[in-house]
Amino acid sequence: MRDSRKMIAYEELKSLIIDNGFCTLCGACEAACPIHAIKVEEAPRRIYDCSENLDLCPICYDICPHSDALIHEVAKFVSDALHRRESLGYYRRILLAQAASPAVRGATKSAGVVNALLSFAMEQKVADSAIIAKSSPHLILKLQPSISLIPDDALSAVDSKVMPCAVAEAFGRAVYEYGKTHIAFVGIPCQVLALRKLEAWQHKIVDSLRITIGLFCLWTFSLDRLLEYLFHEHGVAPSEIVSVDLTIDKYVIKTSDNQVLMIPLHEVKKHIMNSCRTCTDFTAEFADLSVGGGTSLKDWSLVIVRTRNGEELLEKAVKAGVIKVREIASEPEVLAHVIQMATSKKESALKDMEELRSKGLPIPMGAEVMAKPTLSELSRLEDIPVKAIMTREVLTLSSKATVADFFDEMAKHHHVGFPIKDEDDKVVGVVTLQDAMKVPPSERGSTPLESICSRNLITVSPEDSVAEAFEKMMRHNIGRLLVMDGKGQRLLGIITRSDIMNALRRIFQPG
Ligand code: SF4
Ligand code: SF4
Repeated sequence: MRDSRKMIAYEELKSLIIDNGFCTLCGACEAACPIHAIKVEEAPRRIYDCSENLDLCPICYDICPHSDALIHEVAKFVSDALHRRESLGYYRRILLAQAASPAVRGATKSAGVVNALLSFAMEQKVADSAIIAKSSPHLILKLQPSISLIPDDALSAVDSKVMPCAVAEAFGRAVYEYGKTHIAFVGIPCQVLALRKLEAWQHKIVDSLRITIGLFCLWTFSLDRLLEYLFHEHGVAPSEIVSVDLTIDKYVIKTSDNQVLMIPLHEVKKHIMNSCRTCTDFTAEFADLSVGGGTSLKDWSLVIVRTRNGEELLEKAVKAGVIKVREIASEPEVLAHVIQMATSKKESALKDMEELRSKGLPIPMGAEVMAKPTLSELSRLEDIPVKAIMTREVLTLSSKATVADFFDEMAKHHHVGFPIKDEDDKVVGVVTLQDAMKVPPSERGSTPLESICSRNLITVSPEDSVAEAFEKMMRHNIGRLLVMDGKGQRLLGIITRSDIMNALRRIFQPG
């Protein structure tokens, strides 16, 4: 937590974020500094001492995506969406989409959706520029931020390449140097969070933000550490690398002399940025639209529509024939895969946080706040009964339904767990997506849910406090509890970690 006695936020940014190795080089602190005292290169540094010009400035710490400031406030940008799921955040709709043009589709990995949307937004004058990350012409692995000023420019590859990139700094430059007033911003989750924090802070540069498109992200590499590893362990010099690719378990590198290196993912993952180990956001939960490629469907990307703003742009692009969409309900396995990736990222982050905590090592404060309430926040939940925030209409499945039925219901309702009822309408267990994924696809149509459901029911009563419910979830390492009547006979509702975080956001959101 930032020490409020320190009036110059950079001191905190340096000691709590930069010196602990938590910076992911987004460049937001450079963009936000009112007197341009910060420069983000290999790491952010102060190019002159801002305390000589200012007595008080809280901004660079507050807007850093890894600080504990403004986390609850940013939810307001997406929280009017109808749905929220623990794994995916708030959303209005989930779709499959692709660029209508085969040429645009072929040029990128996310089925050309982001490029086509950016180009369309610029043609329609919704945006006058777009901030994206592109490969450096000198070093294929290095990303550099790019300010696209014409629609055609936005059609070239948007690259995430799992490398950091100072796109938020480029956003500031587009405003200050290019005078842009309608900017489309593309970034991975922590970069989108930085922009949303600037928005929550009411920084003047975000008056120019028109739309945020988030890219799915599991982690990014530390460029220096990865290059050093590739050189020392595999004899590959940075200039020899001509392409890189990620498969499910390999990092594939092609070199200028036609060598192909297939490095096990667990090896290269040792070189990811420190903050990524505790990052819980896979799908850019605060973006207007979140887009992720890598679905098992060739040429289609998953699009999560979170805000009215994002929905409008997508609808216009579909109407204009620039983007094609399909309902996700027709592809339950694709949605299951994305939910599983998002869930396992959150679980692994929570595990890593526990491990760091047990070793007395620092944890990015933003990740801690994002993952769970603090003790003081929990105390605010002690007076709220579970019945005040639980979901009363619980979808259940029959014990005789099959795993294939589970996937169909999941795709329809986007739930990742269902209580299971027997023929007497009694709750006998719970099936989660993880349980269902363990059944091989060929056996899903014939495997009844009663054979895979967990029968160890962990429940709360409607009169228990939300704080008690949360502690129970933490103790059993689960994301939801069934709410049963006093005798444990009747299912009255369900309470999830999302419900609790939502309740907290309502308490702490200004206004
Ligand atoms: S993560 Fe971004 S805002 Fe935070 S210190 Fe690094 S460059 Fe600055
Ligand atoms: S895993 Fe999280 S912290 Fe790491 S680059 Fe991706 S969004 Fe940023």
